[in-house]
Amino acid sequence: MHLVFIGAHPDDEASAGGTIAKYVDHGHRATIVVATRGGRGHWKTPSEELEEIRTEEMEKAAEILGADVVFLDYKDADIPAGDALKDELTDIVRELKPDIVITFHPLVWRDDHRRVGLAAADACFKACLPLVETQYPAHRPAPDIYFTGSPMFPMEPDTYIDITGYMDVKIESLRQHGSQWVRWDIDDDDDTRPLEEIVERVRHRARQHGMESGVG
Ligand SMILES: [Zn+2]
Repeated sequence: MHLVFIGAHPDDEASAGGTIAKYVDHGHRATIVVATRGGRGHWKTPSEELEEIRTEEMEKAAEILGADVVFLDYKDADIPAGDALKDELTDIVRELKPDIVITFHPLVWRDDHRRVGLAAADACFKACLPLVETQYPAHRPAPDIYFTGSPMFPMEPDTYIDITGYMDVKIESLRQHGSQWVRWDIDDDDDTRPLEEIVERVRHRARQHGMESGVG
């Protein structure tokens, strides 16, 4: 099976890191598609430099999960709404032939995430239509789509993936995004306390979902 995660920025894949690691460990293939290189995700590092740093962080994080990475090179915080992204993702779905796609719920925080989630969902359908002619032939049947991320409105999960045994690899992968783990209001690049706070939050949320679904 081929699992494809479609996100907007390096580190978005962390919301499905345990699932990706689990699938790869079970002998499946995984690819992370990232629409931008996260060039606006810092308060002072210049965009081009930041894109290089975050590209490297993304590659290391993906390697730990056992996934390949595909970058689309849209501008961080400026992913355009409209058909261009949907059409590009249609071709990517046809090229990668995923069985499962995980992307953002179309009602999550941040326009980049919403646009990617909506375009990815529409692309999965468009990619399976044989009469839509693009660079690659139609990919049928359409992949199963799962949404992740925290919706802006209260929503109950309808699918749980048991990642017991994969928390450490999920966290280890998350730790690679070092450029993101400094406080934006403190001019101190060595301040890594927020990372530990985020790690604790991630573990807490996983424990909560584990209790809801009756697993570790
Ligand atoms: Zn993001």
